Amino acid sequence: MAHSKALLVLENFIGGKFVPCSSYIDSYNPSTGDVYCRVPDSGKEEVQAAVKAAKDAFPTWSSKSPLERSQILNKLADLIEYDLEAFAQAESKDQGKTITFARTVDIPRAVYNFRFFASSILHCMTECTEMATVGCMHYTLRAPVGVAGLISPWNLPLYLLTWKIAPAIAYGNTVVAKPSEMTSVTAWMMCKLLEKAGVPHGVVNVVFGTGAKAGEALVCHPDVPLISFTGSTLTAQRITEKSAPHCKRLSLELGGKNPAIIFDDADLSQCIPTTLRSSFANQGEICLCTSRIFVQRGIYSEFLKRFVSEAKKWNTGNPSDPTVDMGALISKEHLEKVRGYVKKAQAEGARVLCGEGVDSLALPTGNQKGYFMLPTVIAEVKDESCCMQEEIFGPVTCVVAFDTEEEVIERANSVKYGLAATVWSSNVGRVHRVARRLQSGLVWTNCWLIRDLNLPFGGMKASGIGREGAKDSYEFFTEVKTITIKH
Ligand code: NAD
Repeated sequence: MAHSKALLVLENFIGGKFVPCSSYIDSYNPSTGDVYCRVPDSGKEEVQAAVKAAKDAFPTWSSKSPLERSQILNKLADLIEYDLEAFAQAESKDQGKTITFARTVDIPRAVYNFRFFASSILHCMTECTEMATVGCMHYTLRAPVGVAGLISPWNLPLYLLTWKIAPAIAYGNTVVAKPSEMTSVTAWMMCKLLEKAGVPHGVVNVVFGTGAKAGEALVCHPDVPLISFTGSTLTAQRITEKSAPHCKRLSLELGGKNPAIIFDDADLSQCIPTTLRSSFANQGEICLCTSRIFVQRGIYSEFLKRFVSEAKKWNTGNPSDPTVDMGALISKEHLEKVRGYVKKAQAEGARVLCGEGVDSLALPTGNQKGYFMLPTVIAEVKDESCCMQEEIFGPVTCVVAFDTEEEVIERANSVKYGLAATVWSSNVGRVHRVARRLQSGLVWTNCWLIRDLNLPFGGMKASGIGREGAKDSYEFFTEVKTITIKH
């Protein structure tokens, strides 16, 4: 396909240098439908070069003091923050998310990921025990593992990639990262800042390309003992299979089908705006987004009326317009998949109360070919419907009624996923009871998406294996050794 010179062309970042690739893939601007960028289509050869650079850099980097590494991470955070607006513009254009979301969530969090782990590594402790009766003392040592393979998805591109890079290098590993082929631009921009931040050549290598070629080459590389992956459950199954012969250490952050449980004593003035955000923020393309809303029967009609009326006020359109609430979905294929779920729900007899197929979407002239859809609310969906069981990962949420606490816990748990849940009630005892029994790695009560990075993040069941966070990332990205001294 012929391309004009105006296209942005990315290069791999290996051993501290930008390296062109022999073939490229097109990357689209989701809000216009135009190809605007070309991404290296890397394979085994490029991954091999990146792993070698990371391996060569490991002895020096891993022997630096935590303070030296901390200073470099802080400097990198400062440099990204200094360019925050350029990063936010790039993320919005590449992913379709609103500029407001990129400015207030994605890029600030990427900065904070580096600052957080820059601080966290200064406070690491190991264990020591004594067995006085046999004259022994035991203690543990933790050492970085080696070359970490980091694979991230398209929904929160720099946010999720730096959530892996920051702890990996903070604890002394070197990395080969592979961002999603659909959203590679901000990772490439970050590479331009590494040298200035003082990150030695080879400590962070970024190889761009598809999962099937570049991702799989990384997963199968014998010199990469650890893979941190965020993405779909299906891909995680493949990664698990491919890495099994090498017995790799895996951290898997996967999909969700997250319930919101709203009891009749909930404060709806807080619950409705937050549940709108938890359903539709970032076009519903956050693994933590709510997609099943269980409302206690006494307030069901009132909730539905107010929720739908507020959803209709969401302004969908050009993501670079700061007044817009919802931008474009990531790709044409993904938009069709999400729309397909709404059609299936209708065919099963559910009622679409607003959004797709019900309301009309007026788009600016330049965005007519973009991948947009309106916030969509579906009611009267059966629990066994695919819309209540499968991850849709778009701006679609299902609302159903329930009667008792016991019933709603069982229904909320009746999916294969277990990532996040929200519980809305002013009864403290109930909130604790329900939170304890939900099969979910994260439970937010009377709020959503408030995170303390010190604490574990991750899902149960098909939503993942392992946790990341201060202590958990420390354990994942280091190898522990127990030493016994007899005196
Ligand atoms: P995906 O699984 O298709 O891709 C994720 C990454 O894996 C991409 O970089 C992709 O190129 C790569 N990949 C694909 N096939 C591969 C293979 N065979 N070997 C190695 N790498 C491969 O996921 P996606 O569509 O990019 O992202 C959406 C999914 O991510 C959703 O399911 C969402 O819930 C999940 N997600 C989870 C979290 C979390 O923290 N739990 C956060 C964000 C997104």
